[in-house]
Amino acid sequence: MTHYDVVVIGAGPAGITSAMVLASNGLKTALIEKNSQPGGKTCGDGLTPDVFRQLQKIDPLLAEKVCRSTDLNTYKNLLLQAPNGKQVVVNIPASAPFPGMAGMRRSHFDRLLFNHLLNNHPVSLHMDCRVNSLVVGDTAVTLHTSSGSVSASLVVGADGANSVAARFLPASKTPQPEKAFAIRGYYQFNDPVRAATDTPVVVFDKSLLPGYLWIFPLNDGWANIGLGIDSHHMAKNNVNLKAILNKVLPRVVESLPYGQLSNQPTIRGHFIPLGRAGNPISGKRILLAGDAASLAHPLTGEGIGNAIRSGRLAAAQAISCFRQNKFDAAFNRQYDHEIYRITAGEFRNFRVLQSVFRFSAALNFLAAAASPALINRLTDPERIASLQNKRFLLPKLLWEMAFHR
Ligand SMILES: Cc1cc2nc3c(=O)[nH]c(=O)nc-3n(C[C@H](O)[C@H](O)[C@H](O)COP(=O)(O)OP(=O)(O)OC[C@H]3O[C@@H](n4cnc5c(N)ncnc54)[C@H](O)[C@@H]3O)c2cc1C
Repeated sequence: MTHYDVVVIGAGPAGITSAMVLASNGLKTALIEKNSQPGGKTCGDGLTPDVFRQLQKIDPLLAEKVCRSTDLNTYKNLLLQAPNGKQVVVNIPASAPFPGMAGMRRSHFDRLLFNHLLNNHPVSLHMDCRVNSLVVGDTAVTLHTSSGSVSASLVVGADGANSVAARFLPASKTPQPEKAFAIRGYYQFNDPVRAATDTPVVVFDKSLLPGYLWIFPLNDGWANIGLGIDSHHMAKNNVNLKAILNKVLPRVVESLPYGQLSNQPTIRGHFIPLGRAGNPISGKRILLAGDAASLAHPLTGEGIGNAIRSGRLAAAQAISCFRQNKFDAAFNRQYDHEIYRITAGEFRNFRVLQSVFRFSAALNFLAAAASPALINRLTDPERIASLQNKRFLLPKLLWEMAFHR
């Protein structure tokens, strides 16, 4: 049985970037992926500035490659629609040297990361290979896969929302993280020139709150269109997301200058595990990253930024394990502390905002009160970055609304 220093499970953004950092630090690394190609994940394809910042921390060349990719559609404005139909257009300033927000198909984005890994890092790849179970021993972890068994001193579980690795951690004493459920389809507009837009759309419809519908235009006349909602609310109220999409979308498209939709796409859906500080994400010889660690943004469902952040930090923890020859659960807890030191404030604040976004009246009020100057202040990425970890975010935002219009 082949033995590796570290086996990473899952070739999504968390797993690929983790493998890059592990291999570039001299650890004998394997990456195991159940699909034959990377990039099959159902996603909205939206990239926030955090994604670029995280890529830059791993390799500035990689961040530059994504920014320069012809598959990237950089957004300049965002059109927000309140439940009462009022539309507000917000400027998205660039987060220099990166775009403020962008869209890129996951098949292209993950493939670009994957090729960068292949071309620059000596990683042993096991594609088309599903990890079925782990046996955590005193000196190694044995992974039983669809193509036989391998062993590793440490495992990074970056295997997404239905993580196999996560099942081998002790049960959480904190409440289980909430989940959202989201669906999306690739729609084509009948006029590619009008549809080649730099303005994505976010619609807050009464039937979906605190969830939302998005239209993220791609660079080829197509758009990723979908919607997501808190899965507890969905189950409790028997919400049929596909029916809502089919009902709300034609109305929204009618009000936009992008032309008509010309296809009925295949709609795919998936859970999004939302971040909550305190949920254990490591154990003896195991570290979780990305969706496997439930690190998606509680308000927007955006998870690629934290997937890459945690991929890098899991690799940093693995390097410490080897340096100090410690692989026990107590030692690995410093990884949990580091992740939640960075994300806890953000998770807490955006949960508060999520509770406000349940009410149509609050969103209608925001849309009515919004002046472009105020919206731009509130959506300025640097201001958000400076506010999001602070306590009392909501009163601070209300103060801005009252006195800085
Ligand atoms: C509809 C929808 C829209 C979304 N929109 C956005 C968005 O616009 N922007 C954003 O930032 N986030 C969005 N998200 C969230 C985002 O998709 C995830 O947070 C992100 O993909 C997490 O990356 P990851 O690497 O942790 O996991 P994944 O991307 O899920 O990768 C996990 C990998 O592990 C592999 N794998 C799983 N199990 C095994 C196994 N047993 N053995 C071997 N391999 C395995 C999978 O095949 C996959 O390649 C959306 C999610 C959904 C469902």
